[in-house]
Amino acid sequence: MPSNPSWGARCIFHAREEAKPHICRIVADGKGIDFWKEPWHPDGLLSNLYPEGSTLNSVPLNSSLERLLLGDSWDQYPESTMQTIQNILSQALIIPEGKNQVIWKPSPDGDFTLKSSWNSIRTHSQKIPWFSSVWFSGHVPKFSFVTWQALHQRLSTRDRLIFLGTSRDTRCPLCHSERETTDHLFFNCSFSSWVWRTILRRFSYRRAPHSQLKNEELWIRETFKGKSRMSIAIRIAFGATIYHIWKERNRRIFENQSIHKQNILSEILSSIKLKILYLRLEDPPNARSIKFAELFGFPIFTRSPPVRTCSWKPPDGDILKLNTDASLAEDKASIGGIIRDKDHIIKGAFSLDSPPHSINELEIESISKGIKLAISKGTDRLWIESDSLQAVSIIKGVLKCPWRQIAKVHQTLRDLNSLNYWHISHIWREANGAADFLSKTSCPIKGECISVLDLPRELLRIVASDSSGVPYVRM
Ligand SMILES: [Zn+2]
Repeated sequence: MPSNPSWGARCIFHAREEAKPHICRIVADGKGIDFWKEPWHPDGLLSNLYPEGSTLNSVPLNSSLERLLLGDSWDQYPESTMQTIQNILSQALIIPEGKNQVIWKPSPDGDFTLKSSWNSIRTHSQKIPWFSSVWFSGHVPKFSFVTWQALHQRLSTRDRLIFLGTSRDTRCPLCHSERETTDHLFFNCSFSSWVWRTILRRFSYRRAPHSQLKNEELWIRETFKGKSRMSIAIRIAFGATIYHIWKERNRRIFENQSIHKQNILSEILSSIKLKILYLRLEDPPNARSIKFAELFGFPIFTRSPPVRTCSWKPPDGDILKLNTDASLAEDKASIGGIIRDKDHIIKGAFSLDSPPHSINELEIESISKGIKLAISKGTDRLWIESDSLQAVSIIKGVLKCPWRQIAKVHQTLRDLNSLNYWHISHIWREANGAADFLSKTSCPIKGECISVLDLPRELLRIVASDSSGVPYVRM
């Protein structure tokens, strides 16, 4: 803390206790880092993780991480303590060279940002359930605003005005027979019910509206999901109907004028059509979308996307090619890879189960494992291909490495730089079939270095298909 600190520095200093759980150290030599009291372990302070009476009791309170990393005092500890220290160090973010660094855990790349700090301290409020049917992408603001007011019972209907003592007339100006409440206007009233039922018929639904507006909204939300034209159109229709009914009600009360319900219907339908055309939404041409387009007079899109293909390419000369992949399904994860030469000869393969990390961590783990296998085969020229664009970008240094993977990526780059030549590129998933097969949790053979003689037939078929240069259709 400087002697004359700025307001911002003082705020940060005062918030240091709150910030502590969000800080971690990437350890190079451990110089100046207190083993017990500094947050160098990803799970937090060791004094919290191993309270008094634990197996670490014999490690003095003033121990430095640097000395422990050097293994200076290890022989003075009992076997169980040494084992625990070893476990702890294996979980730490340790890099073989460079400087000790401080990282901000809430941010994926470890850099401090206000956004990540705010996200880490705020309480996430519950998502409003009807958000998707009122403020959806493509909504019409004026329709959404009135619908939002109606769903919140905020419209000044006559029952509310009576309650506030500002009106005596309680009758609905549309049907002149019942008390005007929000639920009556939307859509128990004979006038508005006719309009909404007619619109629903346009969407091929013959049904009477629910007696409560919130249930009608729930029906829309549960019946029309996704981003098809029909799904967006019904949400626009719902808002447009509430808006135009409310507008007509006000016209009758405040201007003493009225419009026939048929004209209101036409206005609503034309609003839907205009907005949908403006949004330029395209549906895949199936029976449902074609019928919907015909009912509203929308153009039908039958344009099919161009067929795109990709293929597996062999390496040149004495370069070996490594293909890797990873898979993650619920609580199971595994990684796999295969090494081939210019003549398509398989030089090595691996398939390993792994703890379920994020898929990106698994992809990098797979690349790292494959490189070690290639080096053990005596190669010094390697071409690596992965179908994870993110993992490839991180190894290339184009994308900042997430802090959790810094140690692993560092080690991987060290291994790569021990080679005479290396190159990493992205391959489309469809042409990475052999690595994909080996990375499946269901792969019939598992091991760090699978014998070529043991490779399953299905895998050999994929390899033969890759070798023939056959184009794979990209999905
Ligand atoms: Zn009415």
